[in-house]
Amino acid sequence: MPFFVEVILPLALPKPFTYSITEAEYNYIKPGMRIAVPFGKSKVYTGIAINLHTTPPQLYEAKEIDQILDEEPIVTQQQLKHWEWIASYYMCNIGDVYRSAMPSAYLLESETIIVKKEEYTEQNSELTDEEYLIYEALQNQSALKIQEAVSILNKKNILPVINKLLAKNAISLREEVKEKYKPKRIKYIKLRDEFLQGDKLNEILEILSRAQKQREAVLQYFQLYAVEKKPITAKQLTETAGVSSTVLKSLTDKEIFEEYYLEEDRVTFHATDNSGFSLSEKQQKAFEAVKASFTEKQVTLLHGVTSSGKTELYIKLIEEYINQDKQVLYLLPEIALTTQLVARLTAYFGNQVAVFHSKYTNNERVETWQQVIQESEKAKIIIGARSSLFLPFKNLGLIVIDEEHEQTFKQQDPAPRYHARDATIVLAGYFNAKVLLGSATPAIESYYNAANKKYGYVQMKERYGNVVPPEIVLVDLKDKYKRKRMKGHFSDQLIEAITETLSEGKQVILFQNRRGFSPWVECLTCGHVPQCPQCDVSLTFYKYKKQLRCHYCGYNIASPTQCHQCHSTDISTKGFGTEQIEMELKEIFPEKNISRMDQDTTRGKYGYERIIDAFKNREVDILVGTQMLAKGLHFDNVNLVGILNADNMLYQPDFRAFERAYQMMVQVAGRAGRKDIQGKVYIQTYNPLHNVIQQVTDNNYEGMYKEQLHERINFKYPPFYKLIRLTLKHRDYEKLKDGAMWLYSVLSQNLKMPVLGPEEPAISRIRNEYIRTIIIKVPQDTSLGYSKGVIQKAMSSFDSIPAYKSVKVVANVDPY
Ligand code: ADP
Ligand code: ZN
Ligand code: ZN
Repeated sequence: MPFFVEVILPLALPKPFTYSITEAEYNYIKPGMRIAVPFGKSKVYTGIAINLHTTPPQLYEAKEIDQILDEEPIVTQQQLKHWEWIASYYMCNIGDVYRSAMPSAYLLESETIIVKKEEYTEQNSELTDEEYLIYEALQNQSALKIQEAVSILNKKNILPVINKLLAKNAISLREEVKEKYKPKRIKYIKLRDEFLQGDKLNEILEILSRAQKQREAVLQYFQLYAVEKKPITAKQLTETAGVSSTVLKSLTDKEIFEEYYLEEDRVTFHATDNSGFSLSEKQQKAFEAVKASFTEKQVTLLHGVTSSGKTELYIKLIEEYINQDKQVLYLLPEIALTTQLVARLTAYFGNQVAVFHSKYTNNERVETWQQVIQESEKAKIIIGARSSLFLPFKNLGLIVIDEEHEQTFKQQDPAPRYHARDATIVLAGYFNAKVLLGSATPAIESYYNAANKKYGYVQMKERYGNVVPPEIVLVDLKDKYKRKRMKGHFSDQLIEAITETLSEGKQVILFQNRRGFSPWVECLTCGHVPQCPQCDVSLTFYKYKKQLRCHYCGYNIASPTQCHQCHSTDISTKGFGTEQIEMELKEIFPEKNISRMDQDTTRGKYGYERIIDAFKNREVDILVGTQMLAKGLHFDNVNLVGILNADNMLYQPDFRAFERAYQMMVQVAGRAGRKDIQGKVYIQTYNPLHNVIQQVTDNNYEGMYKEQLHERINFKYPPFYKLIRLTLKHRDYEKLKDGAMWLYSVLSQNLKMPVLGPEEPAISRIRNEYIRTIIIKVPQDTSLGYSKGVIQKAMSSFDSIPAYKSVKVVANVDPY
């Protein structure tokens, strides 16, 4: 009888493939094990076994597998089920889900792979822009295929760049299939056993009487051992005690010392403060309410104002679950937040906390993966950004989603384009686990679900420790400009407030939602605005680097001294970004320390940490930044927050613009006055009477919600309609236009619901590809599955038309 195994491949394939196996293999393989299988001409991929059976495939002859890579499954049944749900809900291939779910160290492939060198640290100036793009990509995924590098640089011949990176020792290349995970081994030194009995110290010193340095080293060893009372590493001896490695070697050669190795986990934490804190009366009430809510509802929304102590409540809740031996997942919108939170959680839970995020190395991620699947004590609580929901949980009890309104929970590119909040709620269902969504400014959808009793709802209205909410002051920019009360982009009122705050020894945060010096430059003579040649955007001006840069593709040129069009030297900058604000501040407050936090200053593994730590340690007086600042950071000493221009948040081409603007302003404002005294928030705006600005000022979430909900019904948006966005891309403008029209007509004929488009998006060309979008609005009471079926069918028909075959179409479910 023939035997077969179904295998998912890490490729954009809609279905698993069938391979033939022997009876012995059939009895050995379990679903969730990795199997190396041949695919295509001569490639070997690492697949995951999902099913075993005896029915041969009908359309092709099953090939034999290459080898079995695991002794035990490394992927659980729940994960396989979840992957299928993600593929089907978010309209992508199961192979895409598999590839992005696993640490890449698990996905061995027989082709050239670029990996970063761990020891290489970034020195910005050393890398050219193209080299930097590759380097940066490696920060996020730690291994790149040649093909991926080709698409990042958008050119075929990338070898010169790769060779330079090799020469700079920033990367290495790998060819063959092999296990990439290596446990970290630590070298220890000990005295040979024969010297351990009785008091042999004198004997050794005798032997070494003529080798002064070695004698010294032995004494150092004893001293260290007396202090540490645990095994001594070679590193401690060389670095702490200053013993040279030649001396160590001589002592080992003389058989006085002995070397041995132990494996160590790469990331370890130690609990420092378990005595901890107790909840305030109000927090305790909320805590009880959450638990009561969990007896009825799987999901509960914790709506607590900034600084109400949501984190403390999470900690107490987590404690209850790990005391029942459950695993806990704590999702955060951004890595930037982990540092502070990890410190708070590890102080409480010590080594039971494991952090999982993309800036960690492959090996670190594999380690966490193994700890989770083995239900190790070391990874009972997982803290991470959205991708940590892919870990192989065995016994999940609780999921906390902090700042649940954040849009970074949604993955935009590549597939799977999942929303981590929604995907974890499904995951929790498999385990009967509870989900706590926390926010001071809940997403409209979540609040709507709570209002409709689908989710439980618990509120915390007050800040911890009787701290009053910040006072909000609106500054009317129109008036200030008219009366010439502006210095650069600062009103006299804001400057005064900053001066006063600093003079009290307090710190200031300033928020501007754009990076760079200014979003574009313009010739005052002919009006020419330099554009990116590959994208439909103007180039952002960087004054310090004297550059114009494209934020979409990285294209850059030296900033012009005269207009490219008319050669006039009368060139001016328009709009402003964080870099400009930082420079103006340095002029207004020359003796103060000013720092900037945005995508340009936070590159590299510890980019955020450096800035956050410096600010926390009060080495910095004023911190200027983009929306990164809005994400739940906690600084005790900040008393003033300034929003330089609220208007550019309000006018975004997106149905969520007002919701987002409200959330952003309230969150940024929440950074002010988190301890002792009342904080102040200055909002500079041309529209002080705008509803959203008023809602922010009055802390009126309810008002914002009602108004937005009304708009959503009227204009057919979530939560009343589900959106599916199709994005079409091609280098040929006409072909794209025709193709988009064709697809649109087929969809609108076959779907009885609003189909909009094909539309040119606000940025209609990126990296030389033109873009069109089609939006499908699926009413709440219509089957989503059926609608997706129709869309999928239209997409495959589209694909089979030769003229459109090269047009890329991507589906995005819940795209905003
Ligand atoms: P949120 O997450 O709701 O914005 P935090 O949990 O960060 O609020 O709490 C704000 C501040 O108040 C933090 O410094 C926190 O340590 C402190 N805090 C909150 N609750 C307590 C408590 N029960 N005991 C001691 N400190 C608390
Ligand atoms: Zn000009
Ligand atoms: Zn560009």
